[in-house]
Amino acid sequence: MSKKMEIKKGIGVSPGYRIRRAFVLEEEDTTVPARFLSPKQDVESEIERFHEALKASIRDLEDLKQEIRKKLSPDLQEIFSVHQILLSDPAIRQKVEEKIRNHRCTAEYALTRTMRSYIRKFRSFRNNLFSNRSQDIRDLEKRVLRHLQGKKRKGINDLKEEVIVIAKDLLPSQTATFDKKHVVGFATDFGGKTSHTAILARAFGIPAVVGVGDLTAQVSNDDIVVIDGTNGLVILNPDEKTLKRYQQKERQHADFWNRLYTELKDLPCETLDGYEIKLWANIEVPQEVSLAVENGAEGVGLYRTEFLYLQSGKVPSEKEHLNAYLQALQELKGRPLVIRLLDMGADKYHHRSAPLQEKNPFLGCRSIRYLFEELDILKVQLRAILRASAHGDVRILLPMISSVEELEQAKTILEDIQEELHKQHLAFDENIKVGIMIEVPSAVLIADVLAQKVDFFSIGTNDLIQYTLAVDRVNEKVAFLYQPAHLSILRMLQHVVEVGKKNAIPVSICGEMSREMRYVLPLLGLGLTNISMTPVVIPEVKKIIRSTTLKEAKEVFEKILSFQTSEETEKFLETKIQQMVPDIFEVLQPTI
Ligand code: PEP
Ligand code: MG
Repeated sequence: MSKKMEIKKGIGVSPGYRIRRAFVLEEEDTTVPARFLSPKQDVESEIERFHEALKASIRDLEDLKQEIRKKLSPDLQEIFSVHQILLSDPAIRQKVEEKIRNHRCTAEYALTRTMRSYIRKFRSFRNNLFSNRSQDIRDLEKRVLRHLQGKKRKGINDLKEEVIVIAKDLLPSQTATFDKKHVVGFATDFGGKTSHTAILARAFGIPAVVGVGDLTAQVSNDDIVVIDGTNGLVILNPDEKTLKRYQQKERQHADFWNRLYTELKDLPCETLDGYEIKLWANIEVPQEVSLAVENGAEGVGLYRTEFLYLQSGKVPSEKEHLNAYLQALQELKGRPLVIRLLDMGADKYHHRSAPLQEKNPFLGCRSIRYLFEELDILKVQLRAILRASAHGDVRILLPMISSVEELEQAKTILEDIQEELHKQHLAFDENIKVGIMIEVPSAVLIADVLAQKVDFFSIGTNDLIQYTLAVDRVNEKVAFLYQPAHLSILRMLQHVVEVGKKNAIPVSICGEMSREMRYVLPLLGLGLTNISMTPVVIPEVKKIIRSTTLKEAKEVFEKILSFQTSEETEKFLETKIQQMVPDIFEVLQPTI
């Protein structure tokens, strides 16, 4: 019987539509709830189901052994021979059968109970050899469970077809290492709009929805799933009608953006009354620069270098840093490259390494604080940035500065490195520009002091909103409170831009706010020097800017400062943008 269609609402974090089969990224810890057979269900068929799953698991292991023999070393296949022996053990088989017969429980539950009792026994041995065996048993349990639950073992790294990944949560490092050719969309149970996983999805142009709730519990591998990243919808097992509508939408969407891109590619980013504003790109990996330039970026306003670490899982050497920066500079052909120092911690860590054990990681040893603790990492990066500055317009961006002391400390370390390079006769730009992220409320309040000590400001609204409104940016439970149009945020933006003007330093914005259509007008009216955003949205933002005047944009900003709630502001901005660019608005509307 075909499954019923279900529409689930989440937070759309990367626009676009995809219809593909689901690939459920398994959780390490699968707990099987106690389930019992109904009076109509036959015990012997349940036992037969268990036998089939066992046979399939033993066959899997044989295949694995063959593969390992071919690809790796013959010795390693022994591990799986041991697994085969364990699975063929009549004692295990008998125990599971007894449980199904005596308690009328499901094969899954009987298997889990049996395997867990073995695990407990093995763990109680002091000898490492035995206690390590418990991991083998756990692995076997998961293998047989997969067959019982109809989930075939498929690795995320050996996908042969395009899929939509469904997961409880994804770390940025997991998203960064996805096989982009085959993972064409994803949806998660948890997460927020400006989590770094969401940012990466946008960078790679993968439609994504996060914070859907109990999605993983309801989707099985190979179910047909629709991802509507534009409207934050996930549709499970769509019916014929919905499927057709979304297939059309997927085609329409792609055609529209191609047309928009071709129309605007060679046109300047200026308002109808001739005011030019620069659109820069936020990038995570140097490979994104070519896409950014193609889309019309006039520079890179934020290079999030932590992905150099997250993708490889190790600390990069000076040479690796330098190569990445030189690659970006080469693609930029003279355009500026703003390199932000490593912003590690909080939600950015590698999935192979344990996260920093902090109760409040966003308020903890993150970013510049982490770099002061790990001076070697900081120095290696600064050396590479300075050396790259001999080859193009490179600027340094310091993340999460919250006090003058932090800024002074970072500048002193930079001077030390400059001296070191001098001594080694290594070339660098003596007048390299140094700017800071304005992303902590304290930095906003002392912006006038900080402005005298730096060359530019870049406002990071992703963090500024979370720290000002006390709303965790990755927590879907409070996502509704994460309000870029909150009056406090608008006032902060206005203040920082005014301070920048008074001190004659450029002020740009690089938070995700800049990529949302409805905020383009107020940001333009605010008087920023440039706006940096994820490359794929540049044509859309350019289209809006080319459809208005600076005068109108200023009026819009003034107007929203008079509203008391962000709801009023959002409504006003949405109507405005709908009137201004109805075609873009139409493409982004929900289908159901
Ligand atoms: C920000 O906080 O707005 C920002 C651009 O930095 P990130 O999203 O990497 O924290
Ligand atoms: Mg930030």
